[in-house]
Amino acid sequence: MRILLLSDIHANLEALEACMAAAPAYDLVANLGDVVGYGASPNEVIDRSRELGKIFVRGNHDKAATGLLELDDFNPLAAAAAIWTREQLTPEHFEWLHSLPQGPLPLEGALNVHLVHGSPNDEDMYVVSIGDALVPLLAEPTPLTFFGHTHLQGGFFANGHNADGFRPEYKTVGKGESFSFQLKPSTRYMINPGSVGQPRDGDWRAAFALFDTEAQVVHFHRTPYNLKAAQDRIFAANLPPRLATRLAAGR
Ligand code: ZN
Repeated sequence: MRILLLSDIHANLEALEACMAAAPAYDLVANLGDVVGYGASPNEVIDRSRELGKIFVRGNHDKAATGLLELDDFNPLAAAAAIWTREQLTPEHFEWLHSLPQGPLPLEGALNVHLVHGSPNDEDMYVVSIGDALVPLLAEPTPLTFFGHTHLQGGFFANGHNADGFRPEYKTVGKGESFSFQLKPSTRYMINPGSVGQPRDGDWRAAFALFDTEAQVVHFHRTPYNLKAAQDRIFAANLPPRLATRLAAGR
């Protein structure tokens, strides 16, 4: 089975469409949350995401936009975007977003895989370093967990000898590219497909991944998208301009 992994779309319709145009053949889509927040196309992105599949875990921005998370812990930019998003959502989309399940969620059809937004221990925790990853990596009932939240493509592994992080290696900064990562037996992984709509690893290109369960290979992808159109929508919506400019830097 080939599973397309999307995370942290953040209401960026242009980035989502570019990912779908660049995506290789897949059998199902798994979405790791933060469908909305920051970007200016929340309703359009929810419609498109729901067309693509039924497997979702909720993200902190999905919770914030639907009143499930206090905005006290959000920085001012994120809070402004959450309030704006809440005002935009159609009642039906609000209801749908509000009812998304909390991770970790077992991935049906691909045994031994869990999906979560942050950490398996805490859906809102950022897993940035091997130090953050080690406890959940070793404690998870499944050897493979896909997560999002950090907007950093790559992940962490642990086996009997070693534990470390890894990042895909790309050759260009502006073209569509992929990087294949072979999973090894007797090794545990936490893998982040990267953020579709607001990458923060210094690479502005939209990120996603495809997991081939038979070959046990994760194919990481980056694809350029219509950045200016996404930025113009943010400016036109009177969202904080920084939410548009940061997209160009991938930060
Ligand atoms: Zn996010």
